[in-house]
Amino acid sequence: MMTKGDYYEILGVARDASPEEIKKAYRKVALKYHPDKNPDNKAAEEKFKEAAEAYEVLSHAEKRQQYDRYGHAGVRGPDGRGPEMNMEDIFSQFSDIFNGGNSPFEGFFRQGQQRVRRGTDLRIKLKLSLKEVANGVEKKVKIKRYVTCDTCGGNGAKDGTAIVTCNVCQGTGQIRKVANTILGQVMTTVSCHACYGEGKIISAPCTTCHQEGRLLQEEVVNLQIPAGVSGGMQLSMTGKGNVPTRGGVPGNLLILIEEKEDDLLKRKETHVHYNLYISFMDAALGSEAEVPTIDGRVKVKIPAGTQSGKVLRLRGKGIRDINGYGKGDQLVHVHVWTPQQLTKEEHEILTSLKGASNFTPNPSKKEQSFFDRVRSLF
Ligand SMILES: [Zn+2]
Ligand SMILES: [Zn+2]
Repeated sequence: MMTKGDYYEILGVARDASPEEIKKAYRKVALKYHPDKNPDNKAAEEKFKEAAEAYEVLSHAEKRQQYDRYGHAGVRGPDGRGPEMNMEDIFSQFSDIFNGGNSPFEGFFRQGQQRVRRGTDLRIKLKLSLKEVANGVEKKVKIKRYVTCDTCGGNGAKDGTAIVTCNVCQGTGQIRKVANTILGQVMTTVSCHACYGEGKIISAPCTTCHQEGRLLQEEVVNLQIPAGVSGGMQLSMTGKGNVPTRGGVPGNLLILIEEKEDDLLKRKETHVHYNLYISFMDAALGSEAEVPTIDGRVKVKIPAGTQSGKVLRLRGKGIRDINGYGKGDQLVHVHVWTPQQLTKEEHEILTSLKGASNFTPNPSKKEQSFFDRVRSLF
């Protein structure tokens, strides 16, 4: 696979560029590499698509945030695909850029481009346990989405055939006009008012979908969640959103990840933290303890003379990195439990040890740097 370029570099903007600056920059790049200006130029087409992909991500606040935090992996769908776009997507989704407002390029961009409508995106939240986050998971979820009506095939006409060509625009959906712009006289096209730009008029509606061309349907979707996702991340499943009315490209299913808090284990990036409490005797004499991990309980050795605050590292027992850079560790933070109640006997035993030289704290340099070590773990 080719390595992807940086979206900010592709558009030639700073990382803190405003949405308006990003839009402006994209318009500039899109014009430069537009297929109408670069006929049969594969390299220009690639640049054009690349810019559209960059704009698609950077123009959405959520996607941009994901990209800033996780790079290209943050905006990759559960199928591992990036937000690559084809020509139809580009012209249908960014129609405001190519046709918008008082852009001098109005009309120019749409020459020879068929208008393709895109349905809305669906959004769901998905709550995952730590184990599911760590190992990845396949989830079946029930969603309600608009799908193409089978009776009419999506055009909304009775039996799919009761449709006639609009005689105002002769079926083109557009009416041409000559307009004066700063670039001189250019031909512009506007949407036909008689057929709302569809070029066709339904003479009798489909009785199943009542001219909508789509039906709301319950569907079970299989979500492949990769290992290492985290709360706030948004995954996207291409084509699993709503189909627009009377035919077109379906939107996407957007999956917002939420993390269920684990009772015992705390996740920080790819590492998992656990607090282990041991008795003073076990710390002094050495012992063995059982600690929970994502994949079940494991035994850890407590060496004799273990200090409170020691961190034991269980390699590879953490969470897989979303970008594939290996697996994190589990860090077991050892705390020596100080008794809070004592019987008379216990009190006497401890009192008798009070003056013993072995019990007088005498931390080495190594132990004093403990706080620095802990800090470095986070
Ligand atoms: Zn229908
Ligand atoms: Zn028309």
